Amino acid sequence: MRLTKFTDLALRAVMRLAVSTQDGSMTTREVAEAMEVPYAHMAKAVTRLQHLGVVDARRGRGGGLELTELGRQASVGWLVRELEGDDEVVACEGGPPCPLRAACRLRGALRTAQEAFYTALDPLTVGELVASPTGPVLLGLVGGPRTA
Ligand code: SF4
Repeated sequence: MRLTKFTDLALRAVMRLAVSTQDGSMTTREVAEAMEVPYAHMAKAVTRLQHLGVVDARRGRGGGLELTELGRQASVGWLVRELEGDDEVVACEGGPPCPLRAACRLRGALRTAQEAFYTALDPLTVGELVASPTGPVLLGLVGGPRTA
């Protein structure tokens, strides 16, 4: 199973913000630069994280993004489910629809496998993702400008 790029960007953002209490809050642009991804893509991911209540944005001088307590305690499985949405791992209904879709055992097996993938991520929290060695590496990341 492969995560969407959008989910991957959002997970990178929450990991970087999970360690930002150690070196000050960051703007979306700074997170994008640290993760070496385009600002516009990161901005969309951060907006979704705000809607989920995982990230807060403080405006004005000294403002920036911060991970909420909900975000810190969030299950990675829950977060990935929310970010990925309801899409199946195969496009049975799309362009053109598969003729087996109404009675396909493979489709059911893939749904079960997809749920098992998420379930394996359920016990892990965002806070746990940034334990060493990941946290120290995140704190050392300094990216170049990304404007696209
Ligand atoms: S064979 Fe089954 S799983 Fe594959 S596209 Fe068709 S309905 Fe979906």
